[in-house]
Amino acid sequence: MTDMQNPELECRTDAKGGLIPASRCPACSYEMDAATCVDENGTKRSRPKPGDVSVCIKCGAILEYSENMILQPLDLESIDDDDTKFQLRRIQQHIRKPA
Ligand SMILES: [Zn+2]
Repeated sequence: MTDMQNPELECRTDAKGGLIPASRCPACSYEMDAATCVDENGTKRSRPKPGDVSVCIKCGAILEYSENMILQPLDLESIDDDDTKFQLRRIQQHIRKPA
């Protein structure tokens, strides 16, 4: 079975085909070893690469993958693209909204 047949495993694979290392959210210490798999259209995406932006599914912190695919905090205001910023804010609000 290849990883293409397993969406869950696909989410845990980086752009080079390696497994994404488990990484803790720098904001809340929540351990994540899968990509968020969401792109700007809300459709499934996978295989993040260094420099890709992610959002902590636990606390909504904006994060960026480093060269070693370790999650680092990212300032939302440092993102130039307004569409990306808007989408990230939307995802963040969705995560942070009270149940
Ligand atoms: Zn977090």
